[in-house]
Amino acid sequence: MTEVRVRFPPSPTGYLHIGGARTALLNWLWARKNGGKLILRIEDTDAERSTQESIEGIIDGMTWLGLDWDEGPYFQTEFSDDHNRAAKQLLDSGHAYKCFCSKEELDNKREAAMAAKKDVRYDGTCRNLTPEDIAEKEKQGIPFVIRFKVPQIDGKVAYEDKVLGTIERSYDDIEDFVIVRSNGKPLYLLCNVVDDIRDRISHIIRGQDHMSNTTRQVLLYQALDARVPVFAHMPLTLDLQKRKISKRSHGEIVAVQFYREKGFIPWALCNFLALLGWNPGTDQEIFSRDELIEAFTLERIGKVNSVFNYQKGNAKFFTDPKLISINEQYLRTMELEQLAELVKQDFLAQNIWDESYERDKRDWFLTTLDLIRDRFHTICDFATLGRAYFAEDYQVEAKPLKKNILKHPDLKKWLPLLAERFAALDEFSKETTEAASRALADELQIKPGILINGMRTVLTGQLAGPGMFDILMALGKERVMQRLANIDRLYE
Ligand code: GLU
Repeated sequence: MTEVRVRFPPSPTGYLHIGGARTALLNWLWARKNGGKLILRIEDTDAERSTQESIEGIIDGMTWLGLDWDEGPYFQTEFSDDHNRAAKQLLDSGHAYKCFCSKEELDNKREAAMAAKKDVRYDGTCRNLTPEDIAEKEKQGIPFVIRFKVPQIDGKVAYEDKVLGTIERSYDDIEDFVIVRSNGKPLYLLCNVVDDIRDRISHIIRGQDHMSNTTRQVLLYQALDARVPVFAHMPLTLDLQKRKISKRSHGEIVAVQFYREKGFIPWALCNFLALLGWNPGTDQEIFSRDELIEAFTLERIGKVNSVFNYQKGNAKFFTDPKLISINEQYLRTMELEQLAELVKQDFLAQNIWDESYERDKRDWFLTTLDLIRDRFHTICDFATLGRAYFAEDYQVEAKPLKKNILKHPDLKKWLPLLAERFAALDEFSKETTEAASRALADELQIKPGILINGMRTVLTGQLAGPGMFDILMALGKERVMQRLANIDRLYE
């Protein structure tokens, strides 16, 4: 069997779109599954639209997602000699010809054909020019493009698509397409094939939006005497209204960077993207890297459009709810050491990282992450909703403040009193603090819930969270006492 060599060839004209990331992921999976190679090739021939910022964004995004490549990044512009040589080869071998028709002539013919409801494709005027005609036109300096000479034979050009089966198109349905512009620059369609031949690409896994090119590209492979790769065209990703998801209509949610900033776990995003257009044939939704590599097959890529379930203006879900749910599942079950690394990166960015979390407070740090992660949705929640465990500048949310604090002004006296009771304890444990809290509630003839909810709000700023006495242990005696004693600040 030939070596599996796949490529991810983004055009660096913007941010890394989640559709692009899905393409990269599926290629990566196929390479890893087969012990093959993933080649990163930046298709930067469109000099006006390509930017360095975009190249960096693509590389950063792939690195963040954990999609490592084996060769590259190569840059398409560095291979223009190959592209020019291929164009010459096609001319020399009679698979292409120079076309001297001017734009005006072509436009006029097209308009006339349209008016007469006739075929609007190029009529082949220059297809059979004699060498003398050509020499004469060149002498006159008439600009020309190079067109591919589509065989005028009955029958169809066909290729095998691993997802969609045999795809064929009649030769007489394909126009003699341009492969080199009049400024001498080879067109993308040709460059892409030449690069894939040079990079010995075995499988091309890309979106169905490229299918309009594929039959013409197959003709180019054949004319260049190259092996035609195996194709697998993936379904498009549309929103609920069946529109392509784009930054213009959907905003930031289409960019990989958005998920990074929002605190998504890179592999959770990959897991979600894999399921967007591929299905395992079972109900399994969560896949480790190894499981996904094992389960992935090209044949199980979907045939029909996949849906990114996002509705603008949905206050509850700022992206596809399934993505949030997968992220939560990872957050709750992933190895603590791995989680700690992701939280560390965010804490560093938020300026609340403490070196001791990696030294003497390591156990405390891991236990605390484990304690609070149950209700969290993203990594950012540790520094926001969970801030009280790691910093003193945490916010007290409006709802618990109103419900658990302002409604009970006597807590101003009661919570400092409770702090005194805690101070007098021989041992500061879950059991002793709970007993002390209940005893004080009894004495004051109030429901223990009033003290407990008040305490939760003062200590964490949140309405809900882990068990109250677990919280006390996580915060430690000193911080608990200090915060309870300072309850006054909440009534200001
Ligand atoms: N540069 C193309 C794109 O970004 C990729 C084309 C291909 O995969 O062949 O859409």
